[in-house]
Amino acid sequence: MIAGASTSAGRRPWTTLRLPEPGQGFVHARGDVFETTDPATGEVVATLASSTVEDVDGAVGAAAHAFETSNWASNGELRAHVLYGFAQSLRAEQDRLAELLTREQGKTIHEARIEIRSSAKMVEYYAGLSRLVYGRSAVLGAEVQGVILREPVGVVAVITPWNWPLILLVRSLAPALAAGNATVVKPASLTPAITLEALALLASQPGLPEGILTCVLGSGGVVGEALVGHDGIGMIAFTGETATGIRVMKRAAEGLRKVALELGGKAPNVVFADANLEKALAGAENAIFTTCGQICTAGSRLLVEDAVYDAFVERLAANTGGLRIGDGLDESTQLGPVASAAQRVKVLDYVERGKAEGTLVAGGTVLEGASYDAGHFVSPAVFADLPADSSLIRDEIFGPVLTVQRFADEAEAVALANDSEYGLAAGLWTQNLDRAWRVGRAIRAGTIWINTYHHFYDEAEVGGFKRSGIGRQQGIEGLHEFTETKHLNFDGKATLW
Ligand code: NAD
Repeated sequence: MIAGASTSAGRRPWTTLRLPEPGQGFVHARGDVFETTDPATGEVVATLASSTVEDVDGAVGAAAHAFETSNWASNGELRAHVLYGFAQSLRAEQDRLAELLTREQGKTIHEARIEIRSSAKMVEYYAGLSRLVYGRSAVLGAEVQGVILREPVGVVAVITPWNWPLILLVRSLAPALAAGNATVVKPASLTPAITLEALALLASQPGLPEGILTCVLGSGGVVGEALVGHDGIGMIAFTGETATGIRVMKRAAEGLRKVALELGGKAPNVVFADANLEKALAGAENAIFTTCGQICTAGSRLLVEDAVYDAFVERLAANTGGLRIGDGLDESTQLGPVASAAQRVKVLDYVERGKAEGTLVAGGTVLEGASYDAGHFVSPAVFADLPADSSLIRDEIFGPVLTVQRFADEAEAVALANDSEYGLAAGLWTQNLDRAWRVGRAIRAGTIWINTYHHFYDEAEVGGFKRSGIGRQQGIEGLHEFTETKHLNFDGKATLW
């Protein structure tokens, strides 16, 4: 039994949202009704209509019309103004949005506030870049000039997952809009209410041409498929599982649509004996337990050097056992529920496999207590002594399950770190500067954190090597992903050749 916070004490009653509300004309959804529920209590959070295939058609058509007829693509000042206004609204509504995010997704309220604030910051960053969408010029001969322009792609589909539903929305939506595109958003079915509430703030910004922002709701299998296969879509910005990303890319290929894919991960987190071990311990815990392990960059493979292995793992186990698991709305909670019943079943299945294949070092127990009965709570689990081909080491579990492996030297650490089909992120902990550079260069992943973990910056690109994705988001490259380049070539000579 792990120390548990009460899941219901101090909870305010919740009024179920009914979305879309009148005036939310950007939402194209006239199909069957579905509900979202609170993963901590089972309480209904929102009742929504899903989109039909005709709604998808309507949303894409509205976006295409707005792209062709409005001044959005040509007016950077307007785009900056709208995005700044959106960022301000997110800040002003932080408390309401954070509560909704926790109720719908399950994450701790502390993390929910960080997500809203970080989203506002990222929107501001791209608001600034709205006025910096430019290419370059080239002198190509005595009387020959070239201007290389950056132009928006057209209509961009933005498809998001449920784990960080707001930041992963704006990470694609804000640069897509900043570059002058029209957009059709499809949020994950577990977290549409928080997405819609945030989008309503954007939709209400003065000056945003009708149709530049549209939204469809519903399952990936029907609504997502219709969207990625639609001929009116010029680009798909997809964040989700690798298997789904491959499916999306195949559908996109049928119409030769551009894709940006942010996919799964299985990040190694490497602790050398010469690290600041206090900091590394806190970093290892943050790396795996943030969002209850449901984060693409989760440091789910901990690699520890022989000389400090036993002492490090012992302390990690003690800290894991002391985590306060409970309702994310309780300020003292450190680990909320996982986001759905299906996710809980998946995590528990891996825990059982881990018990059969290796040594359970911490957690992995049955959570007892009435407060856990209605929610999707799982006890975090740390495993050691697993065979190298164990599915716990190879698969992205997307839950609070950590594997620990031992290494003898730097070469073995790098080999173990790279022994994965994924390459999204990695952490390394050492006070040896030469080693930090060497190992950082040798690990094949899009982000390498040295003596830190899970720090993201709007200015710094993220993305995946190997099966973790295609393209980059955030930073200037994140803006350029949503553009096409065009060479305007002018020849002033009297004769052609
Ligand atoms: P998912 O792939 O199941 O779903 C993602 C989105 O795609 C949802 O909106 C879903 O409805 C939609 N979708 C599903 N099938 C589709 C189809 N055939 N066509 C079009 N759309 C479809 O992923 P998830 O379970 O929501 O999220 C978890 C996954 O996302 C994990 O693998 C995680 O690593 C990944 N992720 C990656 C990043 C990153 O930056 N690389 C960030 C967050 C999450």
